Amino acid sequence: MPNKEQGLRELYIYELKDLYSAENQLVKALPKLAKAASSDELRQGFEEHLEQTKEQVQRLEQIFEQLDESPKGKKCAGMEGLVKEGAEVMTEDFEDAVMDSALIGAAQRVEHYEIAAYGTVRTFAEILGENEHVSLLEQTLEEEKETDQKLNQIAEQINAEAHQASEELEGQEEEEAPARRGNKRTKRAA
Ligand code: FE
Ligand code: FE
Repeated sequence: MPNKEQGLRELYIYELKDLYSAENQLVKALPKLAKAASSDELRQGFEEHLEQTKEQVQRLEQIFEQLDESPKGKKCAGMEGLVKEGAEVMTEDFEDAVMDSALIGAAQRVEHYEIAAYGTVRTFAEILGENEHVSLLEQTLEEEKETDQKLNQIAEQINAEAHQASEELEGQEEEEAPARRGNKRTKRAA
């Protein structure tokens, strides 16, 4: 029979270890996203968030030091899945701007996951009276929210480009195969 001895403090540490694993997985994944991006703005966004993410790892290390606990010992399966999906979409044959839209989608899934996880541990830290942790975790939470917002902004332009590029691709297909004129769409003026 399991002895149910673990309380909120243990759950707090458990969740922090999960986040530590998540952030470290991201430190490895973000350079790959940056490399796959065609838009300079998007690539720079990923590079900047990589630097932020390294600081977020350090904040977690600071918390673990204060708790006198090791940050290691857990693998974040959620982040593993999100990173895997991102890697998967990169192997597809999408047009450059369309691929950028896909990368943004993958990155926003990651940010939302982190926002949920940091919201949870920040609340636990509040309940446990770990006020220094609260401010460290809140700094990171704010960075994740800002990153998500920034991705929204970049997406506006890139999704428009992706749409336009797609219409041009369709136009090319029609030129190559004039017989399929049946469902021709209105082409944008060049
Ligand atoms: Fe992060
Ligand atoms: Fe993040």
